[in-house]
Amino acid sequence: MKKWENNVRRVTPYVPGEQPRQKDVIKLNTNENPYPPSPMVAEALKNMTTDTMRKYPSVDAQPLTDEIAGFYGLKPGQVFVGVGSDDVLAMCFLTFFNSGKPILFPDITYSFYDVWAEVFRIPYECQKLDENFEICPEDYYQENGGVIFPNPNAPTGTLLPLEAVEDIIAHNQDVVVIVDEAYIDFGGTTALSLIEKYDNLLVVQTFSKSRSMAGMRIGYAMGNETLIRYLNDVKYSFNSYTMNEAALTLGTAAIRDRAYFEETSAKIIATRERTKEELRQLGFSFGDSKANFLFATHRTCPAKEIFEALKQAGIYVRYWNKPRISNYLRITIGTDEEMDRLFAFLREYLK
Ligand code: PMP
Repeated sequence: MKKWENNVRRVTPYVPGEQPRQKDVIKLNTNENPYPPSPMVAEALKNMTTDTMRKYPSVDAQPLTDEIAGFYGLKPGQVFVGVGSDDVLAMCFLTFFNSGKPILFPDITYSFYDVWAEVFRIPYECQKLDENFEICPEDYYQENGGVIFPNPNAPTGTLLPLEAVEDIIAHNQDVVVIVDEAYIDFGGTTALSLIEKYDNLLVVQTFSKSRSMAGMRIGYAMGNETLIRYLNDVKYSFNSYTMNEAALTLGTAAIRDRAYFEETSAKIIATRERTKEELRQLGFSFGDSKANFLFATHRTCPAKEIFEALKQAGIYVRYWNKPRISNYLRITIGTDEEMDRLFAFLREYLK
């Protein structure tokens, strides 16, 4: 080992789901939306000129921040935007989790949390989900340096009722609590109504799932203006222009089309409920997902075998060889046609 390597900030990086290059695969492995973004996004893209690229974009991410604030009935100063919610969450870790005490999150959850904790040297403790893979609010009553959990949780898909979310926040008013609502639009109730009551609450959402724009990388946090100001101070200390012009313009167009967003989200919910029926008949069991994916285990066939067989057939789902979840598959909800091809394959394979 070279001497300089002693001074390297070493981390084991997050491993994202595969992005296969072939076009003809059925991609149910990274919780993308199977429908295109709103036609208003296509229209806005057509109208974009290269002249907008010549100049630096808006420092305060206008008009996107205004549009998001308008959509949720907030003031622009209550919204922080970033390059996907991954960027927003990383900024939150860096800004708010500095007490030296361990932050708390579930043992089975978004596998980026421990990576950010490691990279920023934030101590953390994982609280075990119960045997039904549910979060137990009492596990978050102890002294800590901050709390973060997704709702619905990932990769389990299960939703914590708003009262239980509030219970966690109410017991943690001396630290920042982050509710990661990447999947909230597929049937959950957002904790946004609580941001006036709790000045330590941040609600984080994304354009990657319910707004079909994972490739544009737009995420946002909503909270009281003081929290947002602290976040912006840290962001501006890295890079003043995190949001590129295309993201600002096209994200704004997406938010404006409420009807399309509601229609595509409803379609995914309907397909998810049908998928539950089909998979149950094929011998799978799973929690009651309120997200755009199911976390399923099969009565007899090991998850890893199904995962590999599906991949051979050009159907990508997600599998983790990790404690407690190594016999589960996370299956993103695609279009009805894509799901039908999945069911047809499984019907044959599991015979
Ligand atoms: N939070 C959760 C729980 C997620 O599953 C994801 C998607 N991988 C993200 C945040 C980040 O999504 P994005 O950066 O695309 O907004």
